[in-house]
Amino acid sequence: MFDVVVVGAGVMGGATAYWLSRAGKRVALLDKYSPGHVRASSADESRMVRYQYRGQTLYTEMVAAAVELWKDFDRRMGTSFYREQGALALQAKPDNAPFMEGYEGLLDLGYQPRWLDAGEVRRRYPQFTNVDSGYLLEDLGGYVAARPATQALAQAAAELGADVLTGAEVTELGESGGRVTRAITRDGRAFEAEVFVIAAGPWTPMLLPELSIPIRSTAERLHYLTPPDPDAYSYPRLPPFFVMDTNFYGFPVHWRGCVKVAEDTIGATFDPDREREHEDPEALTKLRDFLRRHMPDLSKAEVVYSKTCTYSMTPDTDFVIDHLPDMENAIVAAGFSGHGFKFGILIGQILADLAVHGRTRWDLTRFRLDREPVSMDGHW
Ligand SMILES: Cc1cc2nc3c(=O)[nH]c(=O)nc-3n(C[C@H](O)[C@H](O)[C@H](O)COP(=O)(O)OP(=O)(O)OC[C@H]3O[C@@H](n4cnc5c(N)ncnc54)[C@H](O)[C@@H]3O)c2cc1C
Repeated sequence: MFDVVVVGAGVMGGATAYWLSRAGKRVALLDKYSPGHVRASSADESRMVRYQYRGQTLYTEMVAAAVELWKDFDRRMGTSFYREQGALALQAKPDNAPFMEGYEGLLDLGYQPRWLDAGEVRRRYPQFTNVDSGYLLEDLGGYVAARPATQALAQAAAELGADVLTGAEVTELGESGGRVTRAITRDGRAFEAEVFVIAAGPWTPMLLPELSIPIRSTAERLHYLTPPDPDAYSYPRLPPFFVMDTNFYGFPVHWRGCVKVAEDTIGATFDPDREREHEDPEALTKLRDFLRRHMPDLSKAEVVYSKTCTYSMTPDTDFVIDHLPDMENAIVAAGFSGHGFKFGILIGQILADLAVHGRTRWDLTRFRLDREPVSMDGHW
């Protein structure tokens, strides 16, 4: 019998188990594979931390709170999963509406992004061409080393007493009297608890097929390249960046001497259990086209590794954080729509608060299961 069973050891489940264990709760963290395995959405080397949310105060406030928690986690672990390298936003054409909303939203919230006209972009960031303008949020935001941080959260939870089980796929939630009573794994084990947190990433609809907000697992391709001149592609000469109206974004040298460049496509539906390191010539062609146009010196670089990651898209790109209907002791956290990682440590704290105290200081109305989602075609 546990206080809380957490299903899924991605960043959301791992962080939940970490906070619950810190609070002295008896926790089982169950994963069908293992924390930060290659198929998990959390399992890449870098996830961007950007503050701009088109003026949507709640998200920006949550980013700021999450950054403080990442820093605290780093201090406790003696690590630096969070790299505060700022974020460079570029646009290829002028007056891209979402781009401007992002910039103006930051100003409205009291941040001081530095506007860069085409000449200044050329001077400061000669890695880029065909860019109209941009802005830099200096020393604020950056990225989190995602896979290592995810694994460290589960490890920290284990060291604080949590039972972390790998190869433990929950196939059924046993119910009685309006409560979930047990999580049953494929090999027939039953885990009983007072509260259940389901944080199963893109697999969520398989365990909870009746959710009122649809969650679609989509294919997103990312690439690691060896730059010709590593210094020119390392921070501070290159911060994490995105070229908004191309949907391409990237990170300075951070893994095996490589930069990462990826496209935010909200792509085709993808089975999350599928193999990830398959070939995708179309994605490579798109990458080369982007590089030739906007980062020409990188276009000749060798692509040393590519893989497919999965977003868990809701129609409106807002998250799902709510109790299951008519189940007062089961909480679902899913649908992080390709922008959830940076919040992971905060979402874990929120879920732990909901599990232990039944409340949080955050207004979660926007993330309710009974909202009417209005479709969006992007999330920047
Ligand atoms: C290419 C890409 C780029 C991204 N870029 C960013 C970014 O720059 N910034 C940002 O903030 N976010 C970004 N994101 C989003 C972010 O990575 C995700 O929102 C976040 O990792 C979701 O974490 P999770 O814990 O919900 O899911 P996951 O990491 O997928 O974890 C879910 C876990 O649940 C386990 N599981 C599933 N079903 C079961 C079951 N039945 N029983 C037991 N275990 C189960 C799985 O094995 C898995 O380990 C990006 C995502 C992708 C794919």
